Amino acid sequence: MSTLRAPTPGKTRVCPHCRTTILESANLCPPCRHHLRSGTSGAASVFPSATALKVEGTLRHPGTTQVLEYSMIMTIRNERGEEVARQIVGVGALQPSETRTFSLAVEVFTPKT
Ligand SMILES: [Zn+2]
Repeated sequence: MSTLRAPTPGKTRVCPHCRTTILESANLCPPCRHHLRSGTSGAASVFPSATALKVEGTLRHPGTTQVLEYSMIMTIRNERGEEVARQIVGVGALQPSETRTFSLAVEVFTPKT
């Protein structure tokens, strides 16, 4: 009988390197790219099974002399439209002639059993 446990889908843990909340099944932290011990059966996903959504857009300063400020806000809603997560990903200022490109990717994983 094996004492190894299968990962619980959707269960999270905190990366010891960057303190980001990540999937328990991950053995590579997406933000800081540190390798992690999974503590599971060793069958955790290293790479996403698919990129289900990818959106990218560029914000250009309109050319006035005023500095602009921006906030990148990410929200996740469930099938009833209820907000389950809301986070400011980044904030900053945009000087005349500057641009910022914002990218969002949703990766899905199939935990192996
Ligand atoms: Zn990390």
